[in-house]
Amino acid sequence: MIILLLGAPGAGKGTQAALLNKKYGLKHISTGDLLREEIKNNTPVGKKAAAIMESGALVPDDMILGLLKNALNAGGKGIILDGYPRTAAQARELDRLIKAMGEKIKAVVNIKLSEEEIVNRIIMRRQCKKCGNIFNLRFMKNFDGKCPKCGSGDVYQRPDDNEAAAKHRLEVYRAQTAPVVEFFKDKDFYKEVDGIRPAEKVFEEISKFIEK
Ligand code: ADP
Repeated sequence: MIILLLGAPGAGKGTQAALLNKKYGLKHISTGDLLREEIKNNTPVGKKAAAIMESGALVPDDMILGLLKNALNAGGKGIILDGYPRTAAQARELDRLIKAMGEKIKAVVNIKLSEEEIVNRIIMRRQCKKCGNIFNLRFMKNFDGKCPKCGSGDVYQRPDDNEAAAKHRLEVYRAQTAPVVEFFKDKDFYKEVDGIRPAEKVFEEISKFIEK
């Protein structure tokens, strides 16, 4: 069973994927995370991907495909895919991969959000180096520089979460990724949700859709 999460950068795909993982035990595969792992490990793919990602552009398909295939093969029975497909070509590739695995798409959830809110959220997003928690200053009353989950002061901003890269990512999203919805929007497993609401509310709606 495969669930695809669509939506602009910053729309909340990672947050929803974490909630889905917790409730249903589905494995979260994020192509962005796979690439960041390559960068961390200083692999040849990571070395090439770093500057591209930092600019907000897409990395070439051939760099993603191997990582994605490995993750899908290791993924087991239930998978949430976040960050792929990002182009029409990737959508066709994914269709081939899923068929070859003998798998099926259970749901495609598109999280919608205004562009203004997206940029605000992206530039306020932070991550804890110690525990990996991703949080947003936009939703916190006061921020003392510490991770709200583990209290570590080792909090950082993703290198592509500055305003210039965020705007570029949005342009790429508009031109290349938003059209991917055409592949799914007429299917009965397709669902749009309004991402402006609190994460728990968005999750409630997604859960209902998946369980129906
Ligand atoms: P966001 O959803 O906030 O944009 P991601 O972590 O999904 O963040 O992606 C970060 C970056 O990783 C993208 O801007 C892009 O450079 C690269 N990336 C991730 N997934 C893909 C993909 N499927 N194809 C090409 N590039 C990708």
